[in-house]
Amino acid sequence: MVQLKPPCYQCGKPAVLDGLCADCYDKEHPLIEVKSPLTLLSCKRCGSVKIPGGWRKLSPEESESNDLWLRQVDLLLDTEIKPLVPEIDIEIEEENRLDRVLYIILRVLGKSHDTLPPHEEQYNIEVRFSYGTCDTCGMQSGGYYEATLQIRADGRQLTEEEEDDIVRIVTEMTVAEYGVDQKAFVTKVSTDKYGINFQLGSEHLCRSIADVLESRYLAQRKQNYKLVGQDKGGKDKFRITILIRLNRFGIGDFVNVLENPCQVMAMSKSGLTCYDLVQRQRFTINPKSSKWRTLEYLASKDDRREFMVTTHVYGQPVQLMDSVTFEITEIDESLLDDTIETGATVYGLIINEKFYLLPTQ
Ligand SMILES: [Zn+2]
Ligand SMILES: [Zn+2]
Repeated sequence: MVQLKPPCYQCGKPAVLDGLCADCYDKEHPLIEVKSPLTLLSCKRCGSVKIPGGWRKLSPEESESNDLWLRQVDLLLDTEIKPLVPEIDIEIEEENRLDRVLYIILRVLGKSHDTLPPHEEQYNIEVRFSYGTCDTCGMQSGGYYEATLQIRADGRQLTEEEEDDIVRIVTEMTVAEYGVDQKAFVTKVSTDKYGINFQLGSEHLCRSIADVLESRYLAQRKQNYKLVGQDKGGKDKFRITILIRLNRFGIGDFVNVLENPCQVMAMSKSGLTCYDLVQRQRFTINPKSSKWRTLEYLASKDDRREFMVTTHVYGQPVQLMDSVTFEITEIDESLLDDTIETGATVYGLIINEKFYLLPTQ
């Protein structure tokens, strides 16, 4: 039986769906809904975009890029475009850009119905730019901070590597909180002979950074609260200071554990890896283990000495020559690997006139 298709009730072409031809059906069922003109309110300091429910932060790379406006328009359109069908492709084309107005064309590709072929729709949109200050920048420029993080080292200054590492961690963790925590910003960083101080907008962020540094450096942590006034409701307001004190020893330095001299090989949240110079073996301890309480600083990594193996012959003590003083030291043959030949360089530590061969790495 031949099925006769009735004509489209709008234009008279053969109908395919709901009494309409494909073109008329598409017109009746647009792919998206969007208004024009739109207003784009952005922060003049950081480029964040005001969207319903708050400010949408951009990453530092995005806010410094030349295409900042494009990213901002993207964010705005994300909230302003209401898709009416499941799968659409949108292309944005800049038509004209004036100081505070942007004309764009949206090309939208999609299917208005599963049974119809895809088609393109075009929307001309005017975007009006306006500028303000986001909540974060407002607080930051006003010097707002909830917490201070102080980093010190026990009996020494922070090394340059430690400082760089700590600044990197603080920066990365702050950026990672962008958009989640409105107070994720550093109000002030200062360094002095004692260490580094960060004033942070968010107490929560400060605690998370302190957690990471504490475990990474197996450091001591102290925190205290200071009364700074009352809030509008008359409730006491406190500000927290967290002090992270790094150990006196770093990687490569020497410590005593259970009174044996050891070299610090690695440090991570899983513990401190040491090489026992007497037992000649590695072990790992953490601040919770009982051995940790016997831990004490012994010497700096700079105290190690370089030696040249002058004689390594089977059945005889090995002779080493100090590369600086040219003094000869004899050590037991069993201490040296067979693979270390005459002429090789080895390192040792002399403590209380006793020689300890350091592990090769
Ligand atoms: Zn039609
Ligand atoms: Zn801002």
